[in-house]
Amino acid sequence: MSTGKALLVTGGSRGIGAEVVRMAAARGWRVAFGYVSNEVAADVLVREIGEAGGEAFAVRTDVGIEADIMRSFEAVDRRFGRLDALVNNAGVVDVKARVEEMNLERLERMMRINVIGSMLCAREAVKRMSTRNGGSGGAIVNLSSAAARLGSAGEYVDYAASKGAIDTFTIGLAREVADEGIRVNAVRPGLIDTEIHASGDQPDRLQRVRGQIPMKREGRAVEIAAAVVWLLAEEASYCTGALLDVSGGR
Ligand code: NAP
Repeated sequence: MSTGKALLVTGGSRGIGAEVVRMAAARGWRVAFGYVSNEVAADVLVREIGEAGGEAFAVRTDVGIEADIMRSFEAVDRRFGRLDALVNNAGVVDVKARVEEMNLERLERMMRINVIGSMLCAREAVKRMSTRNGGSGGAIVNLSSAAARLGSAGEYVDYAASKGAIDTFTIGLAREVADEGIRVNAVRPGLIDTEIHASGDQPDRLQRVRGQIPMKREGRAVEIAAAVVWLLAEEASYCTGALLDVSGGR
C-alpha cells in the first residue's frame, strides 16, 4: 500500500470532481471519492486510476444525507487510516427560474446539498485533521462559483446564494482553524464544460454564455482541477481563506 496522503473528494465520479481525482492520484494522493447515482462512471474511474498506478476507491454518498456522509468518512478511516484533505466538490443546480417561482422543496434541496452537505463534510474533516483534536493538520478546498459574485439573476439565484454561503463559510472556517494546521480555501469556477448545465435543463448554456466571457471561451474541468490540487499542496502553504477565481476573466 502507498504511504501517500489521503484525500476525500465529494462528487468525484464526473466533471470537475473526476479531474481532481485523476490529477491528485497522479501526484501521489490516495483518493476516496463519492458519487450519488452513476456507479458505472465511478467504477470506470477507479479502474483507470488503478491501471495508471494510483490508488482510489469510490463510495456512494449523497451529501444531502448526513448518514451517507458519516459512512464515507468511516470508509476512509478503515481504508486509509488517515485523512489529510477534503475537496467539497459535490454540488447541484436546478432548472432556470425566477425567485418568485421557487418553491420550498427546491430551496431546501439546493441548500441541503450545496451548503449543509459541504459544512457537514468539513466538520468531519476538521474532527480528524485539526491538531486541536490530535490530528496532523490538512487542507480543505470548497467548490464555490463565479455565480457567488454575479448572482445568476433570472437563472438560479438560489444556486448563486448557496455559493455565496460557501464563500463566507470558507473565510470563517479558515480563520477558525488557521492555527490548528488546517488551510481552507475556495475555487470559484466560471463557465466550465461539464454535464451540470444539461442537468439544469440548459444543454446549450455554454454556447449562450460564452460571449460574455472576456476570454471568449468556456473552461475545461482540468483547468479547475489544477487550481484545486495546487491549493491542496504544500506549495500553497501560506494560502488560507482565499477565494480563487478561475473564470476566464468573468
Ligand atoms: P457535474 O458534472 O454535474 O458532476 C457532479 C458530480 O457530483 C457527479 O460526480 C455527481 O455524481 C455528484 N453529485 C451530484 N449530486 C450529488 C449529491 N447530492 N451528493 C453527492 N454527490 C453528488 O458537476 P460539475 O460541473 O463538475 O460541478 C462540480 C462543482 O463545481 C459543483 O459544486 C458546481 O456547483 C461547481 N461549479 C461548476 C461550474 C460549471 O460550469 N461546471 C461552475 C461553477 C461552479 P453522479 O455521477 O453519481 O451523478
